[in-house]
Amino acid sequence: MLTLKKLLLSSLGSKPTSINFPICKVNFDMSYKTPSIEELCRRMQIEEEEEGGLVLEGPKIEQQGQEFQWCLVGRFLSDRIVNFQAMKNTLASIWRPVKGVSIKDLGPNLFLFQFFHELDISRVQSNGPWTFDNLLLITKRLSIGEQPSKIQLFHTELWVQVYDLPLGFMTERIAQEIGKFMGVFLEVDQNNFVGSWKNYMRIRIAMDVRNPLKRRMKLKKPGGDWVWINFKYERLPVFCFYCGLLGHSDKFCMDLFNNPDSKDERAYGTWLKAPPRKQLSHDDSQWLRTSASMEFSYTRWCGCRFLHRTS
Ligand SMILES: [Zn+2]
Repeated sequence: MLTLKKLLLSSLGSKPTSINFPICKVNFDMSYKTPSIEELCRRMQIEEEEEGGLVLEGPKIEQQGQEFQWCLVGRFLSDRIVNFQAMKNTLASIWRPVKGVSIKDLGPNLFLFQFFHELDISRVQSNGPWTFDNLLLITKRLSIGEQPSKIQLFHTELWVQVYDLPLGFMTERIAQEIGKFMGVFLEVDQNNFVGSWKNYMRIRIAMDVRNPLKRRMKLKKPGGDWVWINFKYERLPVFCFYCGLLGHSDKFCMDLFNNPDSKDERAYGTWLKAPPRKQLSHDDSQWLRTSASMEFSYTRWCGCRFLHRTS
């Protein structure tokens, strides 16, 4: 493309009093005095500079990428201001990363969690959701080349317990379908499929926090009747009993404020919270099978007065 400078010079060379601009990026405001040739050339130079780009590649970039390869970007699902110092100390003591963690405030309500080993970041990612002060922390792993402030933070991972599944419905394929219905299917707890009878199936999903929590789902086998299956969420942080969204309680629900006539209606409740999962206790009888037959064989006498599970 011809530069403006060349066009000006060629125009001036043939007709000094009449300047023609077949291609011109500079906007002229005729209410002001006509810019001088020097001014036009100066402006053009700036435009040329802006058009130029810098292609970054090479070992230095890769080296910095390596340094930040174990980073999470996160925000809290709330309009409350988080006490940064307290949050930093609390999460670090809960996570207890073997190689440590560095937490930076990128503000507003944006944080960078830099880990120093793949095992630490993986454990934190897979054991979420994490909360501080009952506020949900939404995180996403930072990829090389991404800008933290541009990352969309709308999905959180949750373990869901699926109740009231008819006999024969507790399968991996149905778990995947349920996961897709709820958001994004991530995994199914393989313990669902071993051992004795389970009264629920555990599925890990990623859900969009802009949508309300799903409470139930209708299922049907070919030739059978419709059945409702019900969901309970593990470690569910604050959510609204009126609109079902995570991140606020019904006291601060905008929907409720906009519909004051329905102030006593609640379609959601604490029943969506999954009860704590059964903990293994030290006083199990050696001969009492509580769950899987495999688990029974793992129980061994170690010499002290307690029985320990070796897995
Ligand atoms: Zn609400």
